[in-house]
Amino acid sequence: MYPFEYSTSIQKKSNENDNPSLKNQEKEEERIFCQRCYNLKYHNKLISSSSSWQETLTTDKSFLNFLQKKQNSIILTIIDIFDFPGSLIKNLDNLIGKNNSNILIANKIDLLPKNFDENWIKIWLKKYCSMYGLKNIHKIFLCSAKKNWMIKDLCNEISKIRNYNDDIYLIGNTNVGKSELINSFLRSFVYNGKKYKVTSSHIPGTTINMLGLPLNIFGDTFGKNVKGMLLNNNNQEDQKFLFDTPGIVNENQLFHFLDQEELKMILPQKNIRPLTYIFKPGKSLLFGGLGRIDYKEGTNPIRITVFSELDSHITSIEKANEFYEQLSSYEENHFLKPPIGSIERLKKFPKIVKSIKDLKVTSNEKLYMNTKKVSILDVVWSGVGWCSIGGVRIGDTAIFDVWSPDGRGVYVRNVPL
Ligand code: GDP
Repeated sequence: MYPFEYSTSIQKKSNENDNPSLKNQEKEEERIFCQRCYNLKYHNKLISSSSSWQETLTTDKSFLNFLQKKQNSIILTIIDIFDFPGSLIKNLDNLIGKNNSNILIANKIDLLPKNFDENWIKIWLKKYCSMYGLKNIHKIFLCSAKKNWMIKDLCNEISKIRNYNDDIYLIGNTNVGKSELINSFLRSFVYNGKKYKVTSSHIPGTTINMLGLPLNIFGDTFGKNVKGMLLNNNNQEDQKFLFDTPGIVNENQLFHFLDQEELKMILPQKNIRPLTYIFKPGKSLLFGGLGRIDYKEGTNPIRITVFSELDSHITSIEKANEFYEQLSSYEENHFLKPPIGSIERLKKFPKIVKSIKDLKVTSNEKLYMNTKKVSILDVVWSGVGWCSIGGVRIGDTAIFDVWSPDGRGVYVRNVPL
């Protein structure tokens, strides 16, 4: 039997009966909430539940320890392709028990520029996952939970490898799209004449409880021999579940610094359109108050391509220094957004500091030939976007300083050739 109490509740909105339009809108759909999410969404308050799992799973670490002890489960590890490697839980090989099958889901693929090369991204993901302690990957799926892309193929693969007795665990950092993925599993399945939905929100950390969903509400999605019982059935021994696990909080993800309005500014709603600049030595490229890269030393202009929802600006390094010095005293009308709001808010926002000093980018003949169209490396600000550096001439060395709030959330990725 599952050691912790799982938290599944089907709730009707409290005002549903009073509001005819809402009643119609949600007639066919009931929502599955953990108690915390329900209170957060409809009563705007956080409750602390006294259920036993919460006492046990008070920290991310205890949850991951629990996972390590699990055997014969299907693990769905989900990452946000727009925030990679920032959204990857480090050292997962040590944290996932050896007898579990791990499928890697790279979500939010709809945000990448059109015409991306699927194979190339998979090779690249594999390489980076291995560097960050995840080699044990059964298969990689590039998905969009929001748009239902590749979800059927993913479900088919799960059905193929899933044994009759296996539970499924969905793990990932906060905000990678775990709830949205479950919704895409649920979307096309109707149980007892109703559709279900779990909460999904741009507020990081909305899935804090472990939400256990009996597999049979997904129909045949995960294989025909599902030994699941009906919702609210007390015979828990026989139930098999898909567990939506508490999001693992990665302190390096920059969205932890942002409030709701600011988050909306950085989360892209559709595929990103890259913007390429000619970048000269002595210049600085700014992403609001969240990121900055200075081209400190070099002999020639290079090419820098920005992938971000935020407006980017190029100015001289001296001017950039001045702007950030004054940021906390700006009125509403400044251009280094986010942060946004009152002077108090700007004052409280963590100072942008150098997180990487003297990043050297060089090129040789082979690299130059191979990277004429693509770039040599990416500098990533977790969740905010990235810029690709290219066009460095043979024999040149370009030197950069990279900045971020509190020096957090910056990664350098080599582009595999
Ligand atoms: P969780 O914390 O891992 O459960 O993440 P959520 O499911 O709540 O999703 C976090 C945010 O990412 C929400 O704003 C979702 O709308 C968004 N999101 C989730 N999946 C996708 C996707 O496939 N594409 C895009 N563009 N956004 C997504």
